[in-house]
Amino acid sequence: MTVAAALDQIRAIVGANGILTEPGDMAPYLAEWRGRFKGSSPAVVRPASTEEVAAVVRVCAEAGIPIVPQGGNTSLVGGSIPYEEGREIVLSLSRMNRIRDIDPLNYTMTVDAGVVLTTIQGAAADVDRLFPLSLGAEGTAQIGGLISTNAGGINVLRYGNARELVLGLEVVLPDGRVWDGLRRLRKNNTGYDLKNLFAGAEGTLGIITGAVLKLFPRPRQSETAFVAVPSPAAAVELLARLREATGDAVSAFELMSRRCLEFAIRHVGGSFDPLSEPSPWYVLTELTSGTRSDAFREAVETALGEAFEAELATDAVIAQSETQAKQLWFLREAIVEAQKHEGGSIKNDVSVPVSRVAEFIERAQAAVEAACPGIRPTPFGHVGDGNIHFNLSQPEGADTAAYLARWDEICHVVNEVIFALDGSISAEHGIGRFKKDEMPVIKGPVEFDLLRAVKAALDPKGLMNPGKMLP
Ligand SMILES: Cc1cc2nc3c(=O)[nH]c(=O)nc-3n(C[C@H](O)[C@H](O)[C@H](O)COP(=O)(O)OP(=O)(O)OC[C@H]3O[C@@H](n4cnc5c(N)ncnc54)[C@H](O)[C@@H]3O)c2cc1C
Repeated sequence: MTVAAALDQIRAIVGANGILTEPGDMAPYLAEWRGRFKGSSPAVVRPASTEEVAAVVRVCAEAGIPIVPQGGNTSLVGGSIPYEEGREIVLSLSRMNRIRDIDPLNYTMTVDAGVVLTTIQGAAADVDRLFPLSLGAEGTAQIGGLISTNAGGINVLRYGNARELVLGLEVVLPDGRVWDGLRRLRKNNTGYDLKNLFAGAEGTLGIITGAVLKLFPRPRQSETAFVAVPSPAAAVELLARLREATGDAVSAFELMSRRCLEFAIRHVGGSFDPLSEPSPWYVLTELTSGTRSDAFREAVETALGEAFEAELATDAVIAQSETQAKQLWFLREAIVEAQKHEGGSIKNDVSVPVSRVAEFIERAQAAVEAACPGIRPTPFGHVGDGNIHFNLSQPEGADTAAYLARWDEICHVVNEVIFALDGSISAEHGIGRFKKDEMPVIKGPVEFDLLRAVKAALDPKGLMNPGKMLP
């Protein structure tokens, strides 16, 4: 079947509104938001139901047309963008945006894959439940994309990654069959855990069309503190103490360097310095409790007081209201935005065991400074999960293009430190097309063979997001 004939069949399945072929209409689906990855495609297909997805996939399987599944297109590793050759269609889940069922007694919600994360958070809150996944792109990222990248975010410490928040999945397989695994069970020991193959698969094994999500009781009290700490080592020690002192109530624990905060104050309106004296490092932490009591706040204050005595913290502000807490969290988002305004920024989304975070930062900073004098590390991130966004702004006054041309070389310097500390070179953003060539090295021969065997078993024709995740 020719591509043109296949597109005619697809048009008949999804209707004229469900397919885009004009370059102007397709443009937003063919570029990543940072402009790092661009591609081309004969069509962007937007089915409105699982049946339509399955019928489109059957046509593509017959015609040999590869498919790039796409959610909110907020991926940072180019997984949702087709290659430049223009062979792949983009299959967007954005019209599949229905909440199918909420079961507050079972603490579950069943949704279409295209539902945006903030909609899910809101629907859970409406029935007095919490869906804890939360990250900067939550107003755009869709649950299918979040599950496919096993997204992390700020609450992993307490609730786990996206994968741990999923009880069941519905998936359209590469041959167009539908696997209905939408089970709402917390116990189900009946063989291989297939849902965990598709979670984190970055669209290389099938298209997620629906999911059963775990809900949690909604916290009744939340305390947010912005704490000055002398070093990353002190931050990690503070985390351990806060967990112990509050019955493991820490739901978020974000580290940022002074330079990150200074960039935010310089470039992002509404940013401010919450403390009177500068400190080399800061922690933004949130602790939540299922009940409301003065004792909870007192426990947080006492733990922070003890941290001052132990010289693990030098100053702190605890938010007095929800508005103030939001202002502190605004700073965390602003430091991401601010880096764009300081010239080229080489990004590393890496993780090490929490106990080795300080050693990682120290060794990696020394290594990149030796490789590129004047480089400006801006480490920040989810230290509670050992996840550092080890971003590196160019030396002041350097040529941006020349600096960014050293991306692979400088990431390699960072990766060497990561390997030495038993870490991961992709903590939460995934592999996509960005890091796929590293896979044989980071996985080793046995694990890499297993991954390829899984891909060959589920997608023998190699039509699902080819050239992503696996080289
Ligand atoms: C400002 C900002 C902050 C971010 N912060 C974080 C963070 O803190 N933690 C974190 O983990 N990530 C973060 N990200 C990255 C991003 O939000 C996640 O990767 C997100 O999970 C992607 O969801 P999406 O719907 O946009 O997926 P897309 O970008 O559209 O796709 C991502 C991958 O999943 C595949 N895919 C999408 N939908 C499906 C589907 N239905 N079935 C099968 N495959 C599918 C795509 O092919 C692609 O490989 C951030 C991004 C931005 C822009």
